[in-house]
Amino acid sequence: MMNQAIYLDHNATTPVLPQVVEAMGEALAFCGNGSSVHRAGRLANARLENAREQVASLMGARSSDIIFTSGGTEANNLALRGTGRERLVISSVEHDSIWQVSEDALVIPVDNSGIVDLQVLEEALRDVGEQMIVSVMAANNETGVIQPIAKIAEIAKSHGALVHCDAVQALGKVTLNLKAWGVDLASISAHKIGGPQGVGALVRYNGDLQLNPLLRGGGQERGNRAGTENLSGIVGFGIAAEALASNLSQLEEIKALRDGLESRINQLDATVKIFGKGAERLPNTSCFTMPGVLNETQVMAFDLAGIMISAGSACSSGKVQSSHVLKAMGVAKEEAETAIRVSFGRGNTEADVDKFIKTWSGLYGRLNVSEQRAVSAA
Ligand code: PLP
Repeated sequence: MMNQAIYLDHNATTPVLPQVVEAMGEALAFCGNGSSVHRAGRLANARLENAREQVASLMGARSSDIIFTSGGTEANNLALRGTGRERLVISSVEHDSIWQVSEDALVIPVDNSGIVDLQVLEEALRDVGEQMIVSVMAANNETGVIQPIAKIAEIAKSHGALVHCDAVQALGKVTLNLKAWGVDLASISAHKIGGPQGVGALVRYNGDLQLNPLLRGGGQERGNRAGTENLSGIVGFGIAAEALASNLSQLEEIKALRDGLESRINQLDATVKIFGKGAERLPNTSCFTMPGVLNETQVMAFDLAGIMISAGSACSSGKVQSSHVLKAMGVAKEEAETAIRVSFGRGNTEADVDKFIKTWSGLYGRLNVSEQRAVSAA
């Protein structure tokens, strides 16, 4: 037990639930294409439709409005490119899969705690809202900061704009009422909720909305996304969605671990900055500095000590890049480069926090001293 690695990177991906592994294995061994008319095809199709209902029930949507995709990234791309709305309005803290879709998106700033400036949003939409689609994430992957989606949707709707919400990180970690909030489209991803990687969905709450597919071909997913569906992945997604409803009780425990870690870090060094702390945040996420120590160095040192964390967003090819999220929150580059993200999930315990704190304080002393030496030797 002592030498077991500790995984504190659940926002990057979280372990697949055992019942998902089992159901996927069974679905993988089954031969049938959901588009075939014979018996095996009908059985495959029944599995797909069952999973669609499981996901729809979790999301408070009709099963006909679940469009399965290859993940959150594709769902985000489909939402932003598929509605025919020419102008994109996004926040400055969106995930790269929103951020990179259009070079001329209108970017709404956030305040120092990471919350979208509603006044700027309102002004941006005045008189031109009907040409626009507004895309704001429910919660940020790096800081966990939660956006006021109901308010954002209300403003957007009052100007005739469509609303998309990237709910990939928020799903399963906070209560979402996306339909009641007035969201037209929402993106979700299986591997953030105990399902497999490479499967997600775009949820269309606005039944009137016709989408232009990104992928054309066989007309699967009611013409919204061509290509034979990833049957085993979708079956796994459905099981994970169903399991989520009963897992919400774990969130209090996870929040207690996160809060305990943050207060112990601040007891060790009151100059450590915890980003978004004043705002409403996901209960499992913490993003904070180790003053004077590069996050790249920290991630490697923690890894050697058997603890897996990340430096900001881990979505891009293992590279550590300077965080556009912290920059948008007004954090200086030098400080942002010392920030790490710790994200808790199923299976983490108080003992993990103890080991993290012990390692953190040991590294801080050691790495800081060696950096000072390097500076004085230069
Ligand atoms: N949106 C957010 C907020 C994310 O955190 C991620 C992945 O980390 C994605 C979208 C992309 O999802 P996927 O990995 O399923 O493509």
